[in-house]
Amino acid sequence: MSETQIPNDQATRQGGQLIWANIIFFGLSFLAALTLIPWYGIEYGYHWSTWLWGIGLWLFSSTSISMGYHRLWSHRAYEANPVLRAILAFGGCLALQNSALHWSSDHRIHHKHVDHDEKDPYSASLGFWHSHIGWLLKRRDNGRYNAQYDRCPDLKRDPIVMFQHKHYWWLSIGLNVAIPALLGIFYGLFWEMMLVAGVWRLVWSHHLTFFINSLAHIWGSRPYTEENSARDNIVLAFLTGGEGYHNYHHKFQFDYRNGVRWWHFDPSKWWIKTLSWVGVTKNLKVVPTEKIEKAKAQTLLLKAKERAAEYPNAEEIMQRLYNEYDQLVMRITEFYDAKKVWLESKKANLAYEIAEEKAHLIENYEQFKLKLEKQKLSWLKLAKQYA
Ligand SMILES: [Zn+2]
Ligand SMILES: [Zn+2]
Repeated sequence: MSETQIPNDQATRQGGQLIWANIIFFGLSFLAALTLIPWYGIEYGYHWSTWLWGIGLWLFSSTSISMGYHRLWSHRAYEANPVLRAILAFGGCLALQNSALHWSSDHRIHHKHVDHDEKDPYSASLGFWHSHIGWLLKRRDNGRYNAQYDRCPDLKRDPIVMFQHKHYWWLSIGLNVAIPALLGIFYGLFWEMMLVAGVWRLVWSHHLTFFINSLAHIWGSRPYTEENSARDNIVLAFLTGGEGYHNYHHKFQFDYRNGVRWWHFDPSKWWIKTLSWVGVTKNLKVVPTEKIEKAKAQTLLLKAKERAAEYPNAEEIMQRLYNEYDQLVMRITEFYDAKKVWLESKKANLAYEIAEEKAHLIENYEQFKLKLEKQKLSWLKLAKQYA
């Protein structure tokens, strides 16, 4: 089919100049992972240390993307000392996903114009293939390429980011060949290290990262916002070091956590937090729980309203929904206000000076907590019938 025959709505998807270097590279590496690696295993078998290195290098490079490229450089969700920044930049070279500066520039546009057919570089609105890898195989003239990287003036002041950017290609290609080769020579397992710690590790980590742009915008739940296609997905969270809580992330992009509860599987969050105890990371940004709870309640209200509209007694249901929702928002505000006052007094040591005041503040806090829990149950019971 020639270009002129393509309908308008498909033109954006299919237009653009093919990037042959990427097509050949991604195509061949994927094919090798699919054929050579099982063939070698069947023919010769693998030593366990080969897979240990393959998995270790995958975890290191994908953590560098998540902790470094994504949360540190794209979103400035925390600050890191130069040693950690250098390690993350090094791991970013190994991940072979372009420089931190280039990656962050694209990613900032993704958040700003999420789901926009033309402006979002890997818009999920153009389907799985485009958002997964198609966007890397065709250069579309959507104005996002900017040699000066004007969208990232903050990153241009980071000498580690600029060093990595300047030397990116020889560093990353060199490391991706040299590390598996040296390991292979050291262990006397040259070809299997090249295949597993080189090819398999790269293909595996590439596609898992790509899943965040594709699957995490298609498959999963949207508890925090339905304004965009981003979704929370526990399977992807497991595979990507916590990046799968993508709905939360698109709602609150500057939070250093993607999995917001402490038990949500998010190793990058655990690393960032743990390193803050020894001063390697600092100024970790967190969204107040009150705001998060309100966003969740609002999203549920919108979902319930949509479904309730289909019922014959829609007006009555809407009224009940609004009543319960208003009550909930009030209880959330009351509780977090009481908590704030209590925490502040604790900080100022006030509560310990005046026993009566202390008892009153705790009582207030406990009371509002109970009221909030009760209201939450009542709200969820009603809203979940429709949402
Ligand atoms: Zn996204
Ligand atoms: Zn992001």
